[in-house]
Amino acid sequence: MTQQQIALQQLTSTLLSAFLPPTAEELRSVLRYHDWRYYVLSEPIITDTDYDFFFKALKTLEENNPALITPDSPTQRVAKGLTEDFHPVDHLVSMLSLENTYNIEEVATFENRVKELVMNGDVEYCIEPKFDGASIALVYENDLLIRAATRGDGTTGEEITNNAKAIASVPLSAPFSKYGIYKIELRGEVVIQKDVFEQKNKERVARGEKAFQNPRNTASGSLRMKDPKEVSQRGLQAIMYHISYAVDKAGQNLIGITLLHHFDNIKMIAECGFKSPIQEVSVCKTTEATEAFLAKWIELRYTFPIETDGMVIKVNSLKQQQQCGSTAHHPKWAVAYKFPAKQAHSKLLSVDFQVGRTGAITPVAKIEPVHLSGVTISSISLHNEDMIREKGIMLGDTLIVERAGEVIPYIVGVVPDLRNGSEQPLVFPSNCPSCESPLIRPNEEVVWRCENADCPAQLEERIIHFVSKDAMDIDGLGRQIVIDFIANGLLKNIEGIYALDFEKIRTLEGWGEKSIENLKNGIEQSKKRPLWRLLVALGVRHVGTGTAKDIAGHILSIHELSTKTVEDLIAIEGIGPKVANSIHDFFTNEANIHLLHDLEKLGLNTVNNPAENASASNKLNGQTFLFTGTLTQFGRDRAKQLVEENGGKLLSAVSANLNYLVAGESAGSKLTKAKAIPSINIITEDEFLALIA
Ligand SMILES: [Zn+2]
Repeated sequence: MTQQQIALQQLTSTLLSAFLPPTAEELRSVLRYHDWRYYVLSEPIITDTDYDFFFKALKTLEENNPALITPDSPTQRVAKGLTEDFHPVDHLVSMLSLENTYNIEEVATFENRVKELVMNGDVEYCIEPKFDGASIALVYENDLLIRAATRGDGTTGEEITNNAKAIASVPLSAPFSKYGIYKIELRGEVVIQKDVFEQKNKERVARGEKAFQNPRNTASGSLRMKDPKEVSQRGLQAIMYHISYAVDKAGQNLIGITLLHHFDNIKMIAECGFKSPIQEVSVCKTTEATEAFLAKWIELRYTFPIETDGMVIKVNSLKQQQQCGSTAHHPKWAVAYKFPAKQAHSKLLSVDFQVGRTGAITPVAKIEPVHLSGVTISSISLHNEDMIREKGIMLGDTLIVERAGEVIPYIVGVVPDLRNGSEQPLVFPSNCPSCESPLIRPNEEVVWRCENADCPAQLEERIIHFVSKDAMDIDGLGRQIVIDFIANGLLKNIEGIYALDFEKIRTLEGWGEKSIENLKNGIEQSKKRPLWRLLVALGVRHVGTGTAKDIAGHILSIHELSTKTVEDLIAIEGIGPKVANSIHDFFTNEANIHLLHDLEKLGLNTVNNPAENASASNKLNGQTFLFTGTLTQFGRDRAKQLVEENGGKLLSAVSANLNYLVAGESAGSKLTKAKAIPSINIITEDEFLALIA
């Protein structure tokens, strides 16, 4: 506690017990002190009754002798009457916006750029929460608050001095002269604490008024209310965190001269009686420290009493800030780090109705791109007609989109308040968008289907599924190539994959000897895949990788499945009635039996290799591998097989996603690259074999 605070505490006690009438100045300092304790520190030490006693005493004194009134008297906080309009005012220094970063790599890029701008000097960063409220700028001259303004367009804001005064945590006067400062512009944010916001909303609803939507909009709306008295009742707080302008009595700039560090500025702001982020701010000297501090806040923000949508990272030295300079839009010495957002608003632009390989029609929402949890989302599945109806989604609606962590993004709902009347009902088609066959919705299903076996869209999806990584895993035959081949008449069915006309492919744009050779190899290798992969590739409903492996362990040839009854199938561990019925239907269908015989004739493996299944394990479950250099104990194909049979995955290049690099003899650039990424384990062939032993 400072000397001054002790003195004010004593004065409080004296005034409460004294016989002598207090002076106006005594009352003002005591009231200011207790305002500060209550609104800035949230640590009141006197009762409301005692506070009211002082306030009334001052008011009476001033009423009897108006000459005693000073502009910064606590009685002058809430102006009487209505504000007619908010005049435009120019900020002393433009309020630039901050560039956003969304991950530590982008923060590191920013830090590297700063390092170049300051000629490789040592740089400290001051990191503070990015409060989610309404920006304001306060100007003090000769220790008195003379002006408050909204951010506006950054150059010109609206003058809201009377409303800012009505916010109890904004000091009407502050002792900047102690620091040699005559005129100063402070930046900050007007916010409403989360619990206060909820409380205010409860009160509103109880009074039959409409609840506010969120603290930020409420804060910015409150700043522009005509009646300062109402502003004073909104539970607003002003948190001041930045000095943009400071001069002495002679008009000489002090930034970078006597004011040297952003952290010290925040400290001074706090000492002058403002609410500031002094408790939250941290000075970080390395990217690692920055990363750790940001990570801490990703969690902390949920329990922090004020809404934050990220952190602000600023160069601490004001001299270095000046060296960095600014673009027309952003300072180059600061950047915002946005927390991985879980929810965002986005407009529904259109809906695509996609035909899946089983004929199921899936509505897919095309939305205005939004950034969530580190990825940009522009389309989201709407799943089915029922979901559209339940959520009442219309074209042009504002949607609430959510994506938490690695989860697939989904639509939480719409914001009906943001409709403007131009929204259109979403009509589900009655015919297949690909082949125009009438769509059918089987009883008790939520999905509409195209039941045309020759539907081109279904064929496309069936082939894409057949060649995909989890199924036959054909290298060189990606989604777009399948689509092109179908469009060029090169592929008409699944069997066609094994009878491609390479002479014709050679004439297509983008196809050279090398890519044709790759494709031929990929197709050739797929003929030797284990049986479970063929089971997955056929696209039997409800049969995924796990089920396919369960089944493959119980049969010697795929043709056996045509002879099994539903009961036989249920007897297999892991197979339920739904799956059993689906398998039975598929393998007793004439067309499918025909397809299997054709594939067999084309050289595809349709039998089980017991040794393969015996060695299969999950020892490498989900781990990724890459082989480099000359392997001496097994070939590349065998290596790939070993990884996959044991549940691992093969990557084609060194990246942060790689878990193991198996380095053979005279390994080259891949090894060098892998050594630079600490998370990659570099192992020998023997060590690899030990992993699966
Ligand atoms: Zn169709």
